[in-house]
Amino acid sequence: MSLAEQLTRQNIKGLVPYASARRSMSGGRIWLNANESPFANDYQLDSSVLNRYPDFQPPELIKSYAQFAGVQTNQVIASRGADEAIELLIRTFCENDESIMICPPTYGMYAISAETSNINTKKVPLNADFSLNLDAMAQQKSGVKVVFICTPNNPTGSVISHEQIKAVLDMFEGQAIVAIDEAYIEFSPENSVASWVSQYPNLAVMRTLSKAFALAGIRCGFTLANQHIIEAMSKVIPPYPISWPVAQIACQALSADGIARMQSQLGCINEQKARIAQALTELPYIYEVLPSASNFIMFRTEHKKALFDTLIEQGILIRDYSSQVMLDNSLRISVGNKEETDALLSVMKAFNA
Ligand SMILES: *Cc1c(COP(=O)(O)O)cnc(C)c1O
Repeated sequence: MSLAEQLTRQNIKGLVPYASARRSMSGGRIWLNANESPFANDYQLDSSVLNRYPDFQPPELIKSYAQFAGVQTNQVIASRGADEAIELLIRTFCENDESIMICPPTYGMYAISAETSNINTKKVPLNADFSLNLDAMAQQKSGVKVVFICTPNNPTGSVISHEQIKAVLDMFEGQAIVAIDEAYIEFSPENSVASWVSQYPNLAVMRTLSKAFALAGIRCGFTLANQHIIEAMSKVIPPYPISWPVAQIACQALSADGIARMQSQLGCINEQKARIAQALTELPYIYEVLPSASNFIMFRTEHKKALFDTLIEQGILIRDYSSQVMLDNSLRISVGNKEETDALLSVMKAFNA
């Protein structure tokens, strides 16, 4: 055993790291496996400031995002992606014998972040219709300090109703932070609960520039919550989380022009999404296409392995979720641009199950 292995913390020894699309699959020419935007936009960079440390929380960035999200500036904290926000919530609020609660099938990083911090994860699966199982959540609530709910949910694309979110906020009142992951909210803005942060002291809403804003490469996310939650997280976050280049690019993306461009690109993505959904519905070897409020589509086929491999042979990468709870035979396609959709659909139509 190496010295490193001997000395590694017990909870890290057995940890299987998150198999991100980029880490687990390489090659391919068409990437439809990480819910990224197909659009690569241009930005200006000012390098004259790079000898200086950046602001702890760049004021212009915070102001722009607060305005975009419709909250006050003291209700926002910026982090290295929403992934860092997940980790910060756990490290800020959970003691060693406490737990987070998640509702699978859902985003994998909640449980992995908890595990790296040696925090327990209580799993309360969604109902068959992908709504929350509120009774089971109430039964398991003891010791829970942060509840993660993803809506629209990755990887199913389903949405949790406002009524259910309210019920969870009430259920955990005075006990736990309810963290609503709105990574895909730009694709169905009517589902947002960001406007509730002044009203619910235990609500935190996570956002990112990685999806609709087409900036997965810069690593920039936000948490929206009442100022006391933001202040607590500010104690835990490292001193310079947002580099100058990130702040500069993010501010441009959040300008009026940037937001208009995001919205027009969102329109293109929705067009391709409708095409894909329609085509999948007509393919005989696909027996279910899940409705999606997001930029990806999940579907089920008995021939998932053969289809997945055929797509890889053609250089097209999608994501296999079939080993996860409630997701038998499920594959997920991230919606790309028109050319990528053409290529995808031509392979899928020619596929002989
Ligand atoms: C992509 C994704 C994130 C991570 O966002 P980053 O800002 O890139 O870290 C968080 N939550 C969900 C549900 C996601 O799909």
